[in-house]
Amino acid sequence: MQNAALARADLPLRYEAWDVEPSALPEALATLIAEHAGGNVTIPHKAAVFAACARRTAIADRVGAVNVFWVEGSTLVGDNTDVGGFDHLVRRAVGAAPWPRRAAVLGAGGSAAAVLAAIAEWGGTTASIWGRTPQSATALAARFGGTAVAVSSADLAVEGADLVINATPIGLDDLSLPMPIDRLPAGAVVVDLVYRPGETAWVRAARTAGHRAADGLAMLVEQGALAFERWFGVEADRDAMWAAVRRL
Ligand code: NAP
Repeated sequence: MQNAALARADLPLRYEAWDVEPSALPEALATLIAEHAGGNVTIPHKAAVFAACARRTAIADRVGAVNVFWVEGSTLVGDNTDVGGFDHLVRRAVGAAPWPRRAAVLGAGGSAAAVLAAIAEWGGTTASIWGRTPQSATALAARFGGTAVAVSSADLAVEGADLVINATPIGLDDLSLPMPIDRLPAGAVVVDLVYRPGETAWVRAARTAGHRAADGLAMLVEQGALAFERWFGVEADRDAMWAAVRRL
């Protein structure tokens, strides 16, 4: 999708995937800085690149991870556009429904931190967070005090929620559900950060049961478009990016 946006902007550059072992990250970053490259980072490098950045945006500091970087002079700069991507996804999913007041977050990893950073910006929305490793959920909730509380089960997290978010990888197999549909509160908007061709089984089942529901594709495209705009200072052609991801 980045190559589609580059072509539409007439930028003679290529976006390439680099498979970098954690032990090779310092060398890879040195090469990228020397070449004044910009790029994205994903699991497992988001926290390491965060630490390597000499300057970060306030939102990246809030999340504790970067997913996009670029070089200014010889300074590595990091930002987190997953936050804006998630915000965009929820706005699309909620549509004309009332704005959520109580969110449930399933999962307590890097994307859950971006989710909580977005929710904290909304003002007036609180989140219950459940992680299968309780310490992770407790630590994350402590960082977002006033917005998030950690709870001991997924059922407790969704109690009274009008927005339920899957921030675990469950569902990548097109079979598993992060939570059975009949345990979701009636009317809750369902947002799955996981995406796959044909949407996820959870999103399809939630919609069949009458929930507004969306998978993570809109977050993927929007975080990418925001990254493009950080690198080049020109608007990304989102239609071209959507067309590219739909061809996958
Ligand atoms: P992460 O940092 O590895 O965190 C994953 C979280 O899910 C952790 O809390 C982990 O618990 C939990 N988890 C993993 N497997 C589980 C299972 N079988 N049952 C219950 N909990 C489980 O990953 P992440 O960066 O947050 O990403 C999570 C998923 O979000 C990714 O798989 C990806 O599909 C999706 N994502 C989508 C976008 C997008 O643009 N749409 C962006 C980012 C992420 P432990 O700590 O106990 O392992």
